[in-house]
Amino acid sequence: MENAPIVVVGSGMAGITVIREFRKLDQNTPVVLITEDDGCHYSKPMISNALMAGKRPGDLVLSTKEALVDQMHVVIHANTRAEHIMPDAHLLGTSKGYMPYRKLILALGATPLRLPLQGEGVHNVLSVNNLIDYVRWTGKLTPGQDIAIIGAGLVGCEFACDLAATGHHVRVFDIAPQPLYHLLPPQAADFFRKKLAAGISFSLGCRIIRIDQDGDAYTLVDDIGSTHRAHLVLSAVGLVPSTGLARDAGLATRCGIIADRTLRTSDPDIFTLGDCAEVEGMVLPYVMPIMQAARSIAASLASIPPVPGAPLYPAMPIVVKTPACPAVVCLPPLGKGGDWHETATPEGFRAIFEDDSGRMSGFALVGDAVQEKQELLPKIPAWL
Ligand SMILES: Cc1cc2nc3c(=O)[nH]c(=O)nc-3n(C[C@H](O)[C@H](O)[C@H](O)COP(=O)(O)OP(=O)(O)OC[C@H]3O[C@@H](n4cnc5c(N)ncnc54)[C@H](O)[C@@H]3O)c2cc1C
Repeated sequence: MENAPIVVVGSGMAGITVIREFRKLDQNTPVVLITEDDGCHYSKPMISNALMAGKRPGDLVLSTKEALVDQMHVVIHANTRAEHIMPDAHLLGTSKGYMPYRKLILALGATPLRLPLQGEGVHNVLSVNNLIDYVRWTGKLTPGQDIAIIGAGLVGCEFACDLAATGHHVRVFDIAPQPLYHLLPPQAADFFRKKLAAGISFSLGCRIIRIDQDGDAYTLVDDIGSTHRAHLVLSAVGLVPSTGLARDAGLATRCGIIADRTLRTSDPDIFTLGDCAEVEGMVLPYVMPIMQAARSIAASLASIPPVPGAPLYPAMPIVVKTPACPAVVCLPPLGKGGDWHETATPEGFRAIFEDDSGRMSGFALVGDAVQEKQELLPKIPAWL
């Protein structure tokens, strides 16, 4: 296997970043990238702000496949599906044949969760989790439409702001009583909702159960029988990590592909990162964990020993790109006992999470309080 390349599966942010980081340390070892996509590199976080920024889908492409080959000294097999892994033989089976590997990196991302809704309109509900989805979505947008977004999480709220700012009438539905339910404590969330409500309607604590076709539009029905009409429906209710390839190969999976703090899966020659990975019990579908994990994997691939005591995941703020009310959140570690303490600021809210020993271990800032991020960040302990 010594002459076999390092093989990376997936050309999203995780796959591309791990190759970039590795190339900073090693310019010679052959690297092959296998991807179902066309092999271009685009900015996924920009998708939910693109309309406001006047960007068309093509403007989100950061590098073409040819530019990546050139910059990263990598062989790219685009439009190629990884179909099975034979860990003992160090072979990856793809839609275009077998590929030997010395180390394999699974950066497979996730797929949008589909709610079990009724009604013939359900088949036309769209989700946007990649550039192709976004091309399809923007192809259906026309000025002044009524748009229903199911899911008031980060992605749902960002799309809502983008659509509202560009002349659409947006209503956001969520079964949770507040937007950003997994990110903000209640008072900060209430402030956030009120700010966004200047241009966006919210139906919170509301479970959509059925979507019917209604001429050129849709009727959404909730569980108390209220109806809501929309020309387009966007589902933003979360993601399911892509674990099938790993599971079928006998690798350990749970919510995601299970990895330890070195990002190794249950097979020491196979690493994972990004939206498909469950690292020490955590699935973190955000940019910063990808950057951290990519650097760590790159160092392992280049046989650089880890710095003793260096965290894999330091405090990692999540920036919510909602210009109507900016928000930044640094969540406390999963399962950490403690309480949020929320304080109003002149035009926002500051929420500090204190653990059971009274130590600050997370924060959520909305409105003008976001400017406190740099001051608070160094005080937050690492996650892992
Ligand atoms: C609209 C939007 C806005 C966001 N904004 C933010 C933000 O502001 N801040 C933040 O921190 N995070 C944000 N995120 C999340 C962040 O963008 C993602 O966590 C990140 O892009 C995931 O990258 P990934 O490489 O793990 O997955 P993906 O981008 O999904 O890439 C997966 C890759 O794997 C390939 N693949 C999968 N299966 C196979 C197979 N069997 N064979 C070959 N190839 C395969 C796919 O084709 C794809 O190339 C946002 C997400 C969305 C959708």
